[in-house]
Amino acid sequence: MRSFPDDTEVQQAAKSMLEASQFFHQRGWLLGTCGNLSVKVAPGRILVTPSGRDKSRLRPDDFLLVDEQGVTVAGHEGKASEELAVHQQIYRLTSARAVYHVHSVPNNLASHLWRQQGYVLFEGIEMIKGIAGKALHDQIFLPIASNHQCMTELSQSVADVLRPEVPAVLVHQHGIYAWGDHPDVARRHIEIFEFLLDYVVRLR
Ligand SMILES: [Zn+2]
Repeated sequence: MRSFPDDTEVQQAAKSMLEASQFFHQRGWLLGTCGNLSVKVAPGRILVTPSGRDKSRLRPDDFLLVDEQGVTVAGHEGKASEELAVHQQIYRLTSARAVYHVHSVPNNLASHLWRQQGYVLFEGIEMIKGIAGKALHDQIFLPIASNHQCMTELSQSVADVLRPEVPAVLVHQHGIYAWGDHPDVARRHIEIFEFLLDYVVRLR
């Protein structure tokens, strides 16, 4: 165990991720060892969930603090989440301060139903107002990236479809990445998009 710096940002980030992971697990979006969460705690420093751990049983010292190259500088001695590369790509391309990733039945179904057009469209649904900066009259085009087992390829496919005005990307038959300028916003965006995806799948 490499101890964390006595840093309020790190402690706050760990608390936010613990609460979010338990909430997501209870909703059935973070089952088993799937999914991963990260928070940017300082320039070039990301606190991230470990690889292969049950996300409903995380403890405060299970997180890893990594630098821009993904090298662990403090925290848990295991490996960082395999999908860290995708999180790093999203931090490079957006102003995100937190990136959360979950797998759910509705997000997998939606990614498959609308794969050919390359996006899921939301319009006229009250819950759109829960997305930062959006109003009811806004059309939301949630892009769908192709899935890859190679993390370099997955990062590139997410980068290829990412729209700066939409704080989320679906990955085909895999899950959703959603982000925000604060951990609470990333958590809210996961909730909102999961609602919207569940709604459009059931409507269809
Ligand atoms: Zn995943």
